[in-house]
Amino acid sequence: MSREGLIGVSAEAFLDPENARITRAHFKQALRGKAVSYHNLVQTSAGVEKDLSVVLVPLRVDGKVVSILGIAKNITEKKRIEQELHRSRQTLQLVLDNIPQLVFWKDSTGVYQGGNRRLLEFIEVGNIQQLAGKSDRDMPWSEHTQTLLRDSELLIQTREPLLKHRELAIQADGRQLWLEVSMLPLTALEGEIENILCVFDDITERKETEVELFKRANYDSLTGLANRAYFYHTLENVLIEQLRNPRIMALMYFDIDKFKGINDTYGHDVGDKVIQEFARRISDVLRSSDLLARLGGDEFILLLCGVPNSDSVKIVAEKIIAVMKEPFVVGELRLNVSTSIGVALFQHGLNADQWIKVSDQALYTAKRAGRNGYRFASV
Ligand code: GH3
Ligand code: MG
Repeated sequence: MSREGLIGVSAEAFLDPENARITRAHFKQALRGKAVSYHNLVQTSAGVEKDLSVVLVPLRVDGKVVSILGIAKNITEKKRIEQELHRSRQTLQLVLDNIPQLVFWKDSTGVYQGGNRRLLEFIEVGNIQQLAGKSDRDMPWSEHTQTLLRDSELLIQTREPLLKHRELAIQADGRQLWLEVSMLPLTALEGEIENILCVFDDITERKETEVELFKRANYDSLTGLANRAYFYHTLENVLIEQLRNPRIMALMYFDIDKFKGINDTYGHDVGDKVIQEFARRISDVLRSSDLLARLGGDEFILLLCGVPNSDSVKIVAEKIIAVMKEPFVVGELRLNVSTSIGVALFQHGLNADQWIKVSDQALYTAKRAGRNGYRFASV
């Protein structure tokens, strides 16, 4: 609009009714002698909307307001940038909130700066404001604070992301959960590390599957005892340790006497119950350092490490024979069960297979001697 064209035109010509009302209200205040500032939207003659930041200053002559000086700044571009920033922040938050992992970022001192919805749900915090000032110490993974702090220091030093580098066991809602941790540096334009982005993945299901697979591979499902594979693996390790630190050790090879008869007379299910009870009774006699395994069928093996002397091995064998005396109760049945045991003390130079074989031969001797007893392998 030309300077001349503007003369005599009311400001309201450029304003919609709402903005005209805002202008009138402020103009009235200025007329009363008060300088005011406000925001307003004006329409140019070409119909383009502009955002103005307006200041009205009353000008006085002899103490009376005679005119108003208006100064306006075009802030359209600034507003647009602000809105764009706001929108892109919203989009970013939307993206983060829809990621299934727990995502949060903290400054280099470990104070949380923000997080996604999944994190807020996980730590049972209502909104992002409640996250202010919190650190790992306030989180369900608080007991790992020191470790996470060390990880942050390493990350700041090396500036390298730590991807899926750590697994944390945590106790939340009464359950044991597993989290897999990734950490990435968030670098500002100047190259300084401003924040550390953390991504925690709930891997509890995967862990439980791993544990289940480990159990299946290493434990006997009927008795819950170690299986043959686990026993062999442990025995190999014990024999390596024996070279460095020799101790008195014994193997006991058990077999239930006349077990076929129980199976044939009462059925396989009753036989299974007897195997379970047999394992339980032996376990009750043992110490935590002893390893008992089911080799299969009615055969079990026991490794005693670091026993004081061969007499104490004898005592264990006698105890095991003795705990079988009481009849096994399976439903209505009361069954007499006994076991024969072959005992082999460790001799220098034996490998795992040879040692087991020696105890098996001693078992054979115990069976031939009439069962319900133990025999030591002859050296
Ligand atoms: P012995 O005194 O000489 O040991 O006689 P036994 O009748 O116990 O003979 P043996 O130890 O050779 O027989 C073991 C039997 O165990 C053979 C098989 O039918 C049975 N068996 C093997 N595995 C299982 C199982 O998982 N459950 C049940 N119920 N029986 C099993
Ligand atoms: Mg048997």
